[in-house]
Amino acid sequence: MSSPVRHYVGGRFDPTGEPLPLVDPATGRVVGEAPQASRDLVDRAVRAAREALAGPWATWTAARRASLLHRIADGIESRFEEFVSAECADTGKPRALASTIDIPRAVANFRSYADLLAGRAERSWHTATEDGRGALNYTVHKPLGVVAVISPWNLPLLLLTWKVAPALATGNTVVAKPSELTPATACLLAEVMAEAEVPDGVFNLVHGPGADAAGQWLTEHPGVDAVAFTGESRTGSTIMRAAAARLAPVSFELGGKNAGLVFDDADLEQAVEGTLRSAFTHSGQVCLCTERLYVQRPVFEAFATRLAAGAKELTGYGPMISAAHRDKVLGHLERAGADGEVLAGGGVPRFGDERDGGFWVEPTVLTGLPEDHPAVRDEIFGPVVHLAPFDTEEEALALANASPYGLAATVWTGDVSRAHRVAPALDVGIAWVNTWNLRDLRTPFGGVKASGIGREGGDHSLDFFSEPMNVCVKL
Ligand code: NAD
Repeated sequence: MSSPVRHYVGGRFDPTGEPLPLVDPATGRVVGEAPQASRDLVDRAVRAAREALAGPWATWTAARRASLLHRIADGIESRFEEFVSAECADTGKPRALASTIDIPRAVANFRSYADLLAGRAERSWHTATEDGRGALNYTVHKPLGVVAVISPWNLPLLLLTWKVAPALATGNTVVAKPSELTPATACLLAEVMAEAEVPDGVFNLVHGPGADAAGQWLTEHPGVDAVAFTGESRTGSTIMRAAAARLAPVSFELGGKNAGLVFDDADLEQAVEGTLRSAFTHSGQVCLCTERLYVQRPVFEAFATRLAAGAKELTGYGPMISAAHRDKVLGHLERAGADGEVLAGGGVPRFGDERDGGFWVEPTVLTGLPEDHPAVRDEIFGPVVHLAPFDTEEEALALANASPYGLAATVWTGDVSRAHRVAPALDVGIAWVNTWNLRDLRTPFGGVKASGIGREGGDHSLDFFSEPMNVCVKL
């Protein structure tokens, strides 16, 4: 089986390395393989990125970099179907998802950072001095240098480009490492980079796992100036230790255990529809998905009945990414089934075709578990939501905030004052009121507590990926 997945280092594609099998999550069949980067290849990628920093790339104006980002976006669009197919093959996600979210958002990532860059203002201050002549202070933004971008498997191209685009916009060079489970679209992106004439060494790509492999070697490399990472909180902690050794800055988007609050004044139909999306999009394998839902007691029964009915009717959902992840989710469901009540799902769907070899889990609604139960406390990252009742606004806030995580939350209410009171009181980076995952790429994105460090999105990304420097000129 020949593999189209290759590394891309210093402007050259490289197929070398111990092969890692690629498994189709929908069927469990091995459908390809990807080469794992050796330590030497990772080192060469970092050196290529360092050399490119000192090359012609350093002289590119912001306008020229912005037009390059647009060319990359055009390049993805021109091979749109190829990208969609590759993303679906790697993740098993439905085409409807990849063609409306993953790939269009990757295009939008490049376009929006190009536009933001064009509108970025440098600040200056006139400073009064005793001699009356004053001084002029102005800020220049320099690139951080070589940036490592390490991304997960759930939204492979979307999350990779969410960091690569602003890193390139601000003049850095990049060594990217996508998840070893989903390397295909990153490789297509490298082809687009080559076609768009990104200078050699400005974008490099290495494949392989994290621990004791490409991911770890990259984060420990003394030639890497900053690490932008999306993935599990525990991995973030390991990467932070590696980066701390040389005081390299990190930007982290990590795990979550997102809460939703449904008040008795909410439009119930809207809240049910919204929760079906927020709990079950990509089978719950989106970091923003709701896993804990607190519903005000007067509407609890009605809401639970409707949500469970909706979950049972869901079709066209995708599988878990791997057998290991499916087993983790099913382990949670087994324990939850014994300790609480399963209102919908709870098991493995049977299709009677090749999908029965894949890693599927039914959309599941649970209730009746205590707050310290693993299924309510730990991130499951699957199609599982737990419902619990509450009485007062204060209680709802206390329940939502009693988590080591703090990424996102949803609030469903018809009371405008309550919306503005409750949403900012949530210990999260992002709160949605009467909607979920409505994104404006200019807004701050990230989490508090164990859900992340720093913010990305809009100016926040441009700021992270650049070093502001003040110049003071005595007049
Ligand atoms: P993961 O942490 O296992 O892996 C993420 C990436 O890190 C992969 O490329 C992996 O190879 C690499 N990696 C693993 N160990 C490493 C190490 N020791 N050193 C360097 N790199 C290493 O996460 P995952 O299972 O791929 O993704 C799921 C997780 O990502 C969930 O926890 C989810 O909540 C989180 N996530 C967060 C966001 C967000 O925006 N906050 C978005 C998507 C996913």
